[in-house]
Amino acid sequence: MMSEFDVIVVGGGPAGTSAAIRLAQNKVNVLLVDRADPPGSKNVSGGVLWGNDLGKIIPDWEKIIPVERLITRKGTTFLTKDSAISLDFSSRKFLTNRTGYSVLRVKMDLALAKKAKEEGAMVIGGVTVDSVARKDGKIIGIEQDGDTITSDTVILAEGANPRVAIDSGLRKPIGDRDVAIGVKQIYKIPEDKINERFNLSGNEGFAGEYVLGYLPDGVEAGGFLYTNKNTLSVGVVVSPSHLRNYGQMHSYDIMEEFVQHPSIARLVEGGRLEEYSAHLVVEGGLSSVPKLYGDGYMIAGDAAGFSFSNGLVIQGMNYAIASGIAAADTFIEAKEKGNYTAKALSDYQKKLEESYVLKDLRTFKGIENSTWSSMAHRTIPDILERFLFRLNLEDGLPKKHILELLLRSVSESGHNKTSLALEAYRMMRRM
Ligand SMILES: Cc1cc2nc3c(=O)[nH]c(=O)nc-3n(C[C@H](O)[C@H](O)[C@H](O)COP(=O)(O)OP(=O)(O)OC[C@H]3O[C@@H](n4cnc5c(N)ncnc54)[C@H](O)[C@@H]3O)c2cc1C
Repeated sequence: MMSEFDVIVVGGGPAGTSAAIRLAQNKVNVLLVDRADPPGSKNVSGGVLWGNDLGKIIPDWEKIIPVERLITRKGTTFLTKDSAISLDFSSRKFLTNRTGYSVLRVKMDLALAKKAKEEGAMVIGGVTVDSVARKDGKIIGIEQDGDTITSDTVILAEGANPRVAIDSGLRKPIGDRDVAIGVKQIYKIPEDKINERFNLSGNEGFAGEYVLGYLPDGVEAGGFLYTNKNTLSVGVVVSPSHLRNYGQMHSYDIMEEFVQHPSIARLVEGGRLEEYSAHLVVEGGLSSVPKLYGDGYMIAGDAAGFSFSNGLVIQGMNYAIASGIAAADTFIEAKEKGNYTAKALSDYQKKLEESYVLKDLRTFKGIENSTWSSMAHRTIPDILERFLFRLNLEDGLPKKHILELLLRSVSESGHNKTSLALEAYRMMRRM
């Protein structure tokens, strides 16, 4: 029996829309379904888009995708209760060598879905897929509200909470180690004020990542603040096990702590809160990656556990786009042979192994143990604060060598120098 579609893509985020665009451009009969209407309208990212891969499917993507600002200034900051310790890097080199654009996901996802439609894909919003449909053990399409829609292959690109893949037994349920909780606010602030506050001009943008080293009860969280044209994207990312196991904090309390920190409050001051959202962030590294293909299906993007975070960046959209395109290319080659078995689709894994998607996950295996650690969240901020405070203090006493000040700060923090050096070395190796 002929299938109704060559491919059904579940999910209209960057993974799903990129797959659909590539497929439609190659005359594949593709249906993209998303539970939101319009597709992608409930999606959340920080978000800085590393968009190079979009160039493979949309040559002039920087004009087609509504990007906000080109990031030319990057900040990495440890926040303690009283201090902010930053590494601030701005460079004109970023004007010609991209490090990413700030984007607003609802606008971006709408533009990608529109492009998929223009290329010939059928795009339907407001459809929540219940499960994959099976016949003789092979996946033959999707089930929704008791109806079956058939296809030769299903690409699951349903994001960080992949219910269809889990309920269909195609990946194990998501655990605490696989995800973090992201909370995000958008503040409206006039464009000229943003430029003034962040020392920017024209469409230059700032992307700041923060380690929140001051939360009560040992709760670990990271923060971010990105400039858009006339809004700021501000958010926190926190580990669910920390919320459950330590103290009484909720994710929204941590968001409040972040925006009220003196060095953040002055940046968002006067801003009108326009949006508040929460979403899972994929953080589990290689151990969260499921089997990526089988008879009649492939899994892409967050649903496949593809993301990278080293405390200095959160990246997921680029992995989503790259894996969506790789899944599409695998199908296009399989179609030439009319073979959609696991063996034929295994080329997907090969393509990902050859690209940065799986190479990065292998290179940075275990990095989550460093980014989520008391070393990163407490020890380093504490020692740096003590050291820099002493270094810059005018107290009328004779000065000390920098190394002596540093060693004294380590001792005062209560850490053993040797074990600290060893732990720091291990951490640097992972990063
Ligand atoms: C707070 C936060 C900050 C982040 N910051 C950044 C950043 O700065 N840079 C970066 O690159 N990445 C960032 N990320 C990660 C990035 O957002 C994800 O990696 C990326 O969105 C993954 O794309 P995706 O297409 O796989 O999934 P998603 O974008 O989540 O899209 C999944 C789609 O599937 C749909 N869907 C789900 N279930 C069903 C169903 N059953 N039926 C039909 N449709 C369904 C959803 O509606 C959604 O449209 C951030 C994430 C968060 C939460």
